[in-house]
Amino acid sequence: MNGVIEKSAGIAGADALERINRYTRRPYKAEEVYTFSVVLCDNEVDRDYECFTRGALEKLAVLFEGKTGLLDHERTSRGQSARIYQTQVRDFPEKQTSRGEPYAQLVAEAYVPRTAETAAFIESIESGIRKEVSVGCAVAKRTCSICGEESCAHLRGQIYNGERCVRVLDAPTDAYEFSFVAVPAQRAAGVVKRFSGAPEAGATVGSVRELLKMLETEDSRIVFRGTELGAVRAELQALEKRAAWGDRYRETLCGRIRRLSAVAQPEISRSLTEAIVKGLSVEELEEMAQALQRMADEKMPVTPQLAAGRAEKTENAADDRAFYI
Ligand SMILES: [Zn+2]
Repeated sequence: MNGVIEKSAGIAGADALERINRYTRRPYKAEEVYTFSVVLCDNEVDRDYECFTRGALEKLAVLFEGKTGLLDHERTSRGQSARIYQTQVRDFPEKQTSRGEPYAQLVAEAYVPRTAETAAFIESIESGIRKEVSVGCAVAKRTCSICGEESCAHLRGQIYNGERCVRVLDAPTDAYEFSFVAVPAQRAAGVVKRFSGAPEAGATVGSVRELLKMLETEDSRIVFRGTELGAVRAELQALEKRAAWGDRYRETLCGRIRRLSAVAQPEISRSLTEAIVKGLSVEELEEMAQALQRMADEKMPVTPQLAAGRAEKTENAADDRAFYI
């Protein structure tokens, strides 16, 4: 769900100018400002399987009024920003969202002063180069579309009885600055969502996955609210534990490869084997262990080594069991 600059109105009308001048230190004339429209967000389900309610869009409309947005990180427009001077929720009754609700967009009118610094930005809009906006907001309520609870076992994106589980975002509490992203962007622009306070609701949950996504956004400000920090810390600790199990499994595989290699391909030195396994992924190590096992089985059909081979298998089975406990 990307905000998009959809058209350029250019010269501000009298009404728009009056609104703009509420934000300026001195009254600007129509020819001194450039105005344009931006679709900030809508109520369609986004790629994170989240969507705003129409009520949330109404609230965001109020919160985004007066907010500023940084222009592209272009040399000519460094430090320049556009300001939203008017917002509205636009309804498209004939169009439905994937959840079967009437489609609606939050549209903002923004302006930049016409200066040498903003000329390139204005030119890019005028010439039709599509730009997107990345907006950020905080919401207090996020409910499951399947059961209506804020905290439940349903997984976002999964289908339950033919219905896809999405998180419905409501009760926005804050809107942050936004930024313009030239298209094609190296990263996907989109709406950056945050949870906000409301500890009494007891359902604010931050996650490492959300955190990682925020870190992908170069201009994101990460704010932990309410119980989020605790939730993220707990998840990181759990992940650390699981990573230790993963390390242990890898070490078990490497040990097995070392022993099998000594049987199946004794001409390859231990140090060379060591060097090979070092660079392999767990999947590759598993494949290598299987191949070596086959080679070892073929090489030693009926010899005292077979007993050793069996002992090998038993030992590994025990190792594997230990890992899966
Ligand atoms: Zn649920």
